[in-house]
Amino acid sequence: MCTNLYQKIFKPLFLAIAVLAPLTSFCWGVIGHRVVAEIAQHHLTHKAKKELRKIFGKETLAQWANWPDFIKSDTTNTWSHASKWHYVDLPANLTKEEFISDLKKLPGENLYTQIQAMMKQVADHSLSIEQRQIALRFLIHLIGDLHQPLHVGRDEDQGGNKIKVFWFDRPTNLHSVWDNALVDFQQYSYTEYAGILDIAGKDQIKEWQDSSLEDWFYDSYLLANKIYALTPPDAKLSYRYNYLFKNDLDNQLLKGGLRLAKVLNEVLR
Ligand SMILES: [Zn+2]
Repeated sequence: MCTNLYQKIFKPLFLAIAVLAPLTSFCWGVIGHRVVAEIAQHHLTHKAKKELRKIFGKETLAQWANWPDFIKSDTTNTWSHASKWHYVDLPANLTKEEFISDLKKLPGENLYTQIQAMMKQVADHSLSIEQRQIALRFLIHLIGDLHQPLHVGRDEDQGGNKIKVFWFDRPTNLHSVWDNALVDFQQYSYTEYAGILDIAGKDQIKEWQDSSLEDWFYDSYLLANKIYALTPPDAKLSYRYNYLFKNDLDNQLLKGGLRLAKVLNEVLR
């Protein structure tokens, strides 16, 4: 009876779920974005905390960290213009000078232009609280995206979305492995993960925070180049891949949180 039930119902269901598993993906998953936001929350100045309360009330940064992804499902098209805000695409293997020059010349709205636009809006007291709220939700999210290295990836493969790989035998793509699979593999809640990572010393924090926005983009770009080089199409990824990249993953989440705090301490005045 049980075997019969398995054959008839559960097996086709499992197969359907495996086939329908998302093949494209967009950003750090919910945990990754919340880890970045939670770390940032712990590094706000007194002044920034006070200003944050005016905009968000008692709500936390982590609560809003994924909203810019959720609104992609809005069927009224209110936010369709914002789907390009989550990433930049640049050619492979540029020098730092070439990279920064190309980054500044990218046409239209993108992750680089919108982080700056959202910073201005959050800091602009002539805007309504609602307008500043929305800008702040985006800013929390976009600084997170900037630290998911494949959001500073290549156009030809859509930041790894077109590179098919296997994660523990499950077909997926490289972008999704970095958004979700690697983070989820650690099996921490976002508060646990943030707590474990947030132990950097003062000098390290200063080094990561005291660089320019362009440096942060280049930092992610270098890691993206390393990921591309070490993850060929159809690669079977599992324990060894986690071992290879866990340190990079942890550093990106921590840098994201510390740099988000730096940005918020600048604009929440
Ligand atoms: Zn995103």
